[in-house]
Amino acid sequence: MKAVEKTEEKAIEVCPLCGSKLEKGYVASVAAAWSKKKISTWSLRGLFSGEIIIGTGLGVSIHNVEAYRCKKCKLVIFRYEVKSRKRTKGKE
Ligand SMILES: [Zn+2]
Repeated sequence: MKAVEKTEEKAIEVCPLCGSKLEKGYVASVAAAWSKKKISTWSLRGLFSGEIIIGTGLGVSIHNVEAYRCKKCKLVIFRYEVKSRKRTKGKE
């Protein structure tokens, strides 16, 4: 099988909602989780019922992910870190 060629990624430049130019920056957090349902708990532990997409949910170090925002729409687009809680071989 032939390896898939890497295609250059398109830069995110404009807001998909209003078409304004996006501002580039970072979202910084100790941890953030993705969940299809609301995570309702008063404890940080609740994050682990979701998929951790920024940071590890452990410790207090700040993680930065590159982000683009539209101040007008209050929309932030960022690519999350791919880190599973299971150890994967290789980097990190
Ligand atoms: Zn916008």
